Amino acid sequence: MESNNAVKKERKEYSSRIRRLRRLILTTVAASCLIPTCICVILAVRFDRLNDRYKQASADLEWYRSRYGSEMEILGSEQGTEVVASDVKTTPEMKTAPDSSTEEYMDVDYATIDVSGAQNPEDIEGTRYVYLTFDDGPSSSTDEILDILEEYDVKATFFVCGKPSAKYKDVYARIVDDGHTLGMHSYSHKYSDIYSSLDSFKADLDKLRIFLYETTGVWSKYYRFPGGSSNGVSQVDMSELIDHLDSSEITYYDWNVSAGDDRAGATKETIYSNIVTNIPKFKHCIVLMHDAADKQSTVEALPEIIEAIQSMDDTVIVPITDNTLPVQHINNN
Ligand SMILES: [Zn+2]
Repeated sequence: MESNNAVKKERKEYSSRIRRLRRLILTTVAASCLIPTCICVILAVRFDRLNDRYKQASADLEWYRSRYGSEMEILGSEQGTEVVASDVKTTPEMKTAPDSSTEEYMDVDYATIDVSGAQNPEDIEGTRYVYLTFDDGPSSSTDEILDILEEYDVKATFFVCGKPSAKYKDVYARIVDDGHTLGMHSYSHKYSDIYSSLDSFKADLDKLRIFLYETTGVWSKYYRFPGGSSNGVSQVDMSELIDHLDSSEITYYDWNVSAGDDRAGATKETIYSNIVTNIPKFKHCIVLMHDAADKQSTVEALPEIIEAIQSMDDTVIVPITDNTLPVQHINNN
C-alpha cells in the first residue's frame, strides 16, 4: 500500500516535472521567436524614420548648396560672411561687395548702426529685449528648434523661404501654432533673381507672401533681406526695395547680434559666445541664427544660449511684433 502511494507520488512529481519542462521549452521557443521579431520591427521602424530624416536633410542641403555654393566652407572662412558663390559666379554682371565677389553678408560695424533705442550699454535702463531670429528655414532642423523653444517656453521669429514640399506644410503651420512670428526671407533666396530688378524682387515677395498665407493663414508683415539690407550684391538700389516694403506695410529687420553660424568652423562654443557676449551691448538685441540642415551646432547651442539669456538681469526673450523697434543696417529715413 505504502509502496503504491510512493509510486503514485513519484509519478505525479514526474509528470509535473515534465509539464514544467514542456512549459519551459515552449516559453523558450516562443521567446526566441518573439524577441528577434520585436527587435526587427523596432529596427525597421527606426530605420524608416532615419531614412526619412536623411532624405529630408539631403534635400535641404541640396537647396542650401544651390544657393550658397559647394565651396561654402572655403569661401565662408572670411569672418562675418555668408557666401553665395553659385549665385554670384553665374551672374558676372552682378554688382559685388567691395572686397569679395562671394560674400553675402558684408562686415557690419554694429556700433554704427542707427537703431532706435539705447545702444550704449550705459544708457540701458529697464528691460532688455532679445529677439531670437532664424533664417533660411524650414529645414530638417526646424522641429528640433521648435522643441527646444517649447521646452523653455520661448517665442522666436522665423524668417522663412518658400519650400512647397508637402513635408514642410506642417512645419510652417507649427511655427505659427506654437506662437512664433512668421517672417519672410524671400521665396527663392537666389540673389541673382531677387536682386536683379525691382520687379523680380516684387514678384518673389508676392509669391512668398501668398504661399505663406495659403499654407498658414498668416499674412506676414516682416521681412529680412537675404544678406541683410547691407548686402553688397543687389543690382537695384536697396532704397528702392525698402520703399516697396514700406508701401506694402512690411517692416524689415536686420540684426545687431550674429551667431556667426554661417562661418566655416563655427562650433557650438563659438555660436554661444558670439551671442552671449554681445547681448549686453544692446538694449534691443536682434539675434541672427540659421535654421538649416547643416547648422546642427546652432541647435546644439540653443538650450545653453536660452539659459544664459534667461539668467541675465531684466532681460526677456520675445518674438518680433508690430511694436518691435527695427534694427536696420540701411535706413531710408
Ligand atoms: Zn539667408
